[in-house]
Amino acid sequence: MLVLVINSGSSSLKYQVRDVAAGIVLTEGLIEKIGVGNGGDGDGEIEGPRDHAEALEQVDAAIHAELGDPELAAVGHRVVHGGERFAKPVLIDNEITRAIERLNPLAPLHNPANVLGIRAISKKWPDLPQVAVFDTAFHRTLPEYAWRYAVPDELYTNHGIRRYGFHGTSHEYVTHRAAALLDLPVDEFDGVIAHLGNGASVTAILGGHSVDTSMGFTPLEGLVMGTRSGDLDPSILVFLGRNGWTPEDIDTMLNRESGLMGLAGNNDMRSVVEASEGGDAKAAMALAVTSYRLAKYIGSYHVAVGGAKALVFTAGIGENSHQFRALVTDRLRALGIELDAGLNRQRSREPRVISTAASVIPVLVVPTDEERAIAEATSAVVHSSIAP
Ligand code: AMP
Repeated sequence: MLVLVINSGSSSLKYQVRDVAAGIVLTEGLIEKIGVGNGGDGDGEIEGPRDHAEALEQVDAAIHAELGDPELAAVGHRVVHGGERFAKPVLIDNEITRAIERLNPLAPLHNPANVLGIRAISKKWPDLPQVAVFDTAFHRTLPEYAWRYAVPDELYTNHGIRRYGFHGTSHEYVTHRAAALLDLPVDEFDGVIAHLGNGASVTAILGGHSVDTSMGFTPLEGLVMGTRSGDLDPSILVFLGRNGWTPEDIDTMLNRESGLMGLAGNNDMRSVVEASEGGDAKAAMALAVTSYRLAKYIGSYHVAVGGAKALVFTAGIGENSHQFRALVTDRLRALGIELDAGLNRQRSREPRVISTAASVIPVLVVPTDEERAIAEATSAVVHSSIAP
């Protein structure tokens, strides 16, 4: 079964054609600068495709150039926000599209783009089944005491202000792979998963389900990230507002200028590690803040799951930066965690254990693959929808 996986952003569209049974990518690409003008005054020339429909024509042409005339069986969309309604992937129809659109206020940068992608495909290939795979869905199992903010109830009831969590597709995929590596049925897997990319979140897994996660109402909460601050005292925002900062100024500062970027002037972990090893004190402090914050979360999630059976690293930094993994686990000795320095340094694309035999909790590196997870989920939903 061939599945086209689509990740639409406001001005970009990432795609992969995957053979689900073989678990391989047949072709992939990225269309950028959708609807981005060069004139800046509204009637300047458009640099990239005019809109998502035109971007899709380019995707279609690229797929044909690479694969001839492949028989696509379905399209799987990465949809960022599924709100409280969507706890699993769903087959898309008009009502579902409108439901995703109604969640626009909760994800103003992402859900509108997802809807544009869905509508462009419905128009071009009306008979092709489409499936929405939500970034929030895996976290619908959080208990209420974990998703509630301690603010007046009407903020939740009137505005939907609660913790939702993100990166769910990755956390779920990695949970299954980690359980398999440990030879455990997934419903016996209790652990802590650290998804550390440019965006980063950590999730507490109990019996294979998410019971807490560090991102909240938006992806800003939680860990120190590439350009996001993670947790801070909300009074800072009030203070800045009283000093003339606009909501847009604050949003830009917290989402684009903070994190590693704010502390070290660079959001790329490789560069920050190199600078720190070269004696740059700001880079060293950025690593200390980032690893300390993560270690505190891991400690608290170890408690949340009543004793984790594994700590798992994934995504760009988690899979590749042996230096950062060592910095974090050095702070976790109280949990009896002990890395094997040789195993930690080994490079591999395979899931693996990097702790010593004496480590009380095994530490794993499990490569994530969100597109693969989306393709598999899409295939499963389509098959179940046509089953008698
Ligand atoms: P992602 O968002 O999952 O693509 O992860 C991006 C982050 O992974 C960036 O901070 C990169 O610096 C980091 N990263 C990617 N490759 C490596 C590597 N070989 N060593 C250290 N960090 C890496």
